[in-house]
Amino acid sequence: MERIDSVEMTRKTVASWRAEGHLVGFVPTMGAFHEGHVSLMRRAVAECSKVVVSVFVNPLQFGPNEDYASYPRQLETDAQVASEAGIDLLFAPSVEEMYSGPGQTKVVVDGPARGLCGDFRPGHFTGVATVVAKLFNIVQPHKAYFGQKDAQQLAVIETMVADLDFPVEIVRCPTVREPDGLAMSSRNKYLDEEARVAALSLYRGLEQAASRALAGERRAATLEAAVAETVRAEPRARLEYAELRDARTIEKLDRLEPQRECLLAVAARISTSGGGHARLIDNFIFRLKNGRVEVDRGVFADKNSTQSSQ
Ligand code: AMP
Repeated sequence: MERIDSVEMTRKTVASWRAEGHLVGFVPTMGAFHEGHVSLMRRAVAECSKVVVSVFVNPLQFGPNEDYASYPRQLETDAQVASEAGIDLLFAPSVEEMYSGPGQTKVVVDGPARGLCGDFRPGHFTGVATVVAKLFNIVQPHKAYFGQKDAQQLAVIETMVADLDFPVEIVRCPTVREPDGLAMSSRNKYLDEEARVAALSLYRGLEQAASRALAGERRAATLEAAVAETVRAEPRARLEYAELRDARTIEKLDRLEPQRECLLAVAARISTSGGGHARLIDNFIFRLKNGRVEVDRGVFADKNSTQSSQ
């Protein structure tokens, strides 16, 4: 695996691959790899002949009171994980390398960036869309892999790609969970033992809603309340939202609807022992087919293969 921190060298390397006829896959990340990241890498390696992974903690997508400074950074371990997953190029630029231009241009996506995390993290999706647009222009992949765990981000990126005619195919990959259901996240590293228990309330809430839906409930308000009540019952959790939305457009839904992917999304802040907190998100997708509900929870990691989330 090559490790490159320069924009120019990354461009040159990928250009030579493309000239040789390779199909180039790309997995953008902020590092601190867990099995969710690895699942994206494996899928890319299976579908493409060359794969680039980027590790860049993007300051533009963090608010002033968010965890940019404390976000876990472990580039040497990440490089080993990426290499073992069969990655060809690890692009890990510095902030100065990524933002060496005048910094006067931002990519603002409207519709799907409204509501949910868009309300609680002002400017976040502009930061995400801007860095992903830059990364697409630097790497120039044929296919780019994103996790369903960050459902609103996926909708924002797909909308940006469609609106701005990026010549890249976006591949949606399922959420990978710990064996007990907690969605894997680099931010799970913030969780102490008690906070880890509280964090599981997001998944448990979604399961409560899934049981209701499987028993015939269709109303958004009832499904959202099932999630909200479960999270609110945890003293260490502070609910930000529990909402039913269209997974592609992020429009609000009043009920589960056929012909749509219905996203039940939740976000909460989990307070940790040291007085800090971890902001976690999770979601299930509901599909209504022939009057029956299908629940898409993503995939559960094997008990023996999972890394500790501590
Ligand atoms: P991040 O490093 O958190 O910015 O995530 C990089 C990519 O990995 C994004 O496309 C995320 O959606 C994806 N990802 C993060 N956590 C998971 C997970 N538990 N399952 C699947 N994909 C994930």
